[in-house]
Amino acid sequence: MSHQAPPTLGNQYEDDRMLRSYLSRVCPTDVLREIEPSLIEMGRLAGSELYQMQLDDRLNEPTLTQWDAWGNRIDRIEVTHLWLKAERIAAEHGVVATAYEQKHGSLSRVHQCALAYLFTPSTDIYSCPLAMTDGAARTLISSGNQLLIDRAVPHLITREPSKFWTAGQWMTELTGGSDVGLSETVARKDQTLADTFYLFGRKWFTSAVSAQIALTLARPEGNPPGGRGLALFYVETRDEQGRLQNIEINRLKDKLGTRKVPTAELTLNGTPARLVYGTTDGVRNITPLLNITRLWNGISSVALMHRGLALAFDYAKKRVAFGAPLSEKPLHMDTLLGLQVETEAAFHLAFFVAELNGKSEAGEISENDVQLLRVLTPIMKLTTAKQAVMVASEVLESFGGAGYIEDTGLPGLLRDSQVLPIWEGTTNVLALDTFRALGIHTTSESKGEKRLEVLLWQFKLWFESIRNPLLIHAGQTAMSALAHASRWLLEGNNLEAGARRFAITLGRTVELALLVRHAQWSEDHEADGAATASAHRFARSGIDMVIDQPSA
Ligand SMILES: Cc1cc2nc3c(=O)[nH]c(=O)nc-3n(C[C@H](O)[C@H](O)[C@H](O)COP(=O)(O)OP(=O)(O)OC[C@H]3O[C@@H](n4cnc5c(N)ncnc54)[C@H](O)[C@@H]3O)c2cc1C
Repeated sequence: MSHQAPPTLGNQYEDDRMLRSYLSRVCPTDVLREIEPSLIEMGRLAGSELYQMQLDDRLNEPTLTQWDAWGNRIDRIEVTHLWLKAERIAAEHGVVATAYEQKHGSLSRVHQCALAYLFTPSTDIYSCPLAMTDGAARTLISSGNQLLIDRAVPHLITREPSKFWTAGQWMTELTGGSDVGLSETVARKDQTLADTFYLFGRKWFTSAVSAQIALTLARPEGNPPGGRGLALFYVETRDEQGRLQNIEINRLKDKLGTRKVPTAELTLNGTPARLVYGTTDGVRNITPLLNITRLWNGISSVALMHRGLALAFDYAKKRVAFGAPLSEKPLHMDTLLGLQVETEAAFHLAFFVAELNGKSEAGEISENDVQLLRVLTPIMKLTTAKQAVMVASEVLESFGGAGYIEDTGLPGLLRDSQVLPIWEGTTNVLALDTFRALGIHTTSESKGEKRLEVLLWQFKLWFESIRNPLLIHAGQTAMSALAHASRWLLEGNNLEAGARRFAITLGRTVELALLVRHAQWSEDHEADGAATASAHRFARSGIDMVIDQPSA
């Protein structure tokens, strides 16, 4: 009797040409030699036991038990087996810690992102609590609040599973996740203890509510409305006896995807909290956290894209149609290669932002790179998230009917990807943030200023050593899209309405420029033309989305 052969995975590091080629370019040989064993091991885990466990654990979901048998409110969350295992592996393998141990200076962040990239697709979005843990560590360190740094950071960045804490990020309220300045949670000051407050309010989306700590926003009594009147607080969710500290978990959300993540609605009934940094400007002060979670979002996007393709390419070798495996059908392979090119483009953008973060954290960042990091963080997040959804959808189609069937594990790829453009700032919200990062106001007075110079300067630097005519041509496509975006800004018509097209154009343009640079390196150092073929194809895959106002 015939049957369908399922796709299988090998070592997810060893099989990943894109990651290995990139690391060979950015890491000096001795650094690569030192970090590779950790990546090979994570690649092995991700392609074998974690992936198998993920398939076996498919139907398990977190549970909330609100009452015990004797009528006590307990609000106990139990997470899945894979999540428990993922927590231990994440700590032991330093999926957060590597960035803070700074063994390889600015490349520590690249190393950590490579671990996260390999770990993420086999661990049921355990990346969510890790992203917030990493973001909380970075925020506390940047706050300079020594008491909180001493208390929490060693737990957030430890490799010892029994000491490891994760963090939540409680921002979104019923009044809005984008317009967070409307938040209604009130902070009442303790009359005797400095910096101690009690929080009262409802938090509408709190992922990974199993975390030991959270960073959250609340309005100290008497503060003005709006984002400036909010302050950033540190909360320990449980007391010494393990009881929730005046927090009620009202319910877990019933979600399209990320179903292994316990995302809860909370009521805070006098939850003790400490000020992190000042009694105002909470929205500004939580930015370091958002920058890190947005980086994780980009890394997760490329990780899920790559996983989908690893499965699709393997399946294409096994599935026979019209007398030959799909891998011998030019149209099927062209379809997959198109997705591969999107994935490579997204990969280079996400990892470039990782490099910039690494430089910043190691204190080695230039003024130009500070600007690039600010501008590219929202652009990278919004661009890669959209690519992830598109690629996941196509990957499912590439499996035919099997892609739509739950126990193949494939539909989860699409459902989980769909959250990437929503959380950590929606596409539109980040498109408007891109304007802020570039100092563009949607009113007319900023017309005419040269806001894209930082990118122009960077492209020129990258393109200096390009010699292959195909790559020169692809580079010109990037330059001309950038010039068009610049002209559109100068004209200044209806900027707000065009913000998304503008930001996606910049995202795809930077992706193309990065592909071009990498491709020339790959030709020169690896004698490999595959990256050139990718750059050439990406240049013809819709880079410039900016639409001019029709002239009257
Ligand atoms: C699975 C999941 C887990 C989550 N976990 C957390 C968590 O742990 N912590 C947390 O704080 N939040 C969390 N969120 C919430 C998430 O961050 C918000 O849903 C998101 O920021 C959007 O906010 P909102 O839902 O209030 O939508 P809204 O802000 O109401 O936005 C609705 C729509 O309007 C658009 N929009 C808003 N403003 C503008 C504008 N000025 N111009 C143009 N368009 C605009 C948005 O792009 C969006 O499409 C989670 C969400 C999900 C789905």
